[in-house]
Amino acid sequence: MLHSFTQSDFDEKIEAAYALMKQCRLCPRACGAERLENDTSGFCRSGRNPLIASVTPHYGEEPPLSGVSGSGTIFFGNCSLRCVYCQNYPISQQGNGVERTPGELACQMLWLQEQGCHNLNLVTPTHFMPPVLAALRIARERGFDLPIVYNSSGYESLEALRILDGIVDIYLPDMRYSDDEPAMHYSEAPRYREINRAAVREMFRQVGNLVLDGRGIAQRGLIVRHLVLPGNRSGTEGTMRFLAGEISRDVWISLMGQYFPAYRSGEFGSLARKVTAEEYDDAVGIMEACDLENGWIQEFE
Ligand code: SF4
Repeated sequence: MLHSFTQSDFDEKIEAAYALMKQCRLCPRACGAERLENDTSGFCRSGRNPLIASVTPHYGEEPPLSGVSGSGTIFFGNCSLRCVYCQNYPISQQGNGVERTPGELACQMLWLQEQGCHNLNLVTPTHFMPPVLAALRIARERGFDLPIVYNSSGYESLEALRILDGIVDIYLPDMRYSDDEPAMHYSEAPRYREINRAAVREMFRQVGNLVLDGRGIAQRGLIVRHLVLPGNRSGTEGTMRFLAGEISRDVWISLMGQYFPAYRSGEFGSLARKVTAEEYDDAVGIMEACDLENGWIQEFE
């Protein structure tokens, strides 16, 4: 949707985004870190410029995103959550990555387009949203026009999301928990339920249900990811009821069963094992009982 903006509209968005980065309130934690001064004291330990962990066509995303030519993923280092089971913890928690300027990031976006990727997939971009927008503006001037996927933890501030209205084409948020207690215990995320649900409502307001082109490639819309945790710590029923009742029965859901005990999960008894086939089947049954039929479930061994 980048083409629907003039560059001066875009400049206003970028200015509003950088204003959130000063005494940072880019995410709901509102740490107040002086990010424009490269102050890394905030919860996400990030400074002004984005930390880039990888830039690559990715073939393992949901089928309408990966298609045949891959989803053009850019993985950002650091995160505004601290999930004890994060499978990408060297990137999200240990800050692996290389600092890039918006101009350098724009070149990486253009490179993904040159590879034939179907979209630009920004993985956990929230804490770097202002320089990402600045990079998009530069890339657009040079011919970048892929659909933009905002692949997010789902722990988002409404103020930041509203800046993205008209820029992001496809929102891909997690809904990790339907209760605050496990969200706090496993991800240090206060008020997760309320914040996450408000964010998903706003994302849906902006982009609606998934729209595919004639090749089955996503052009616009919302896809919700729900990772089933052992012992139903993810609260699948609460999340599915919310989606069916307050978002749409046609919403697309990626029900993920690939949990395995990574990072610090061994310290948290209930998370120190894989999800069983029965637990995953239960989650599928809940989705079906809520009449949620769009999306992807996994073969489970
Ligand atoms: S983006 Fe980082 S510094 Fe900013 S409020 Fe969130 S955790 Fe704090």
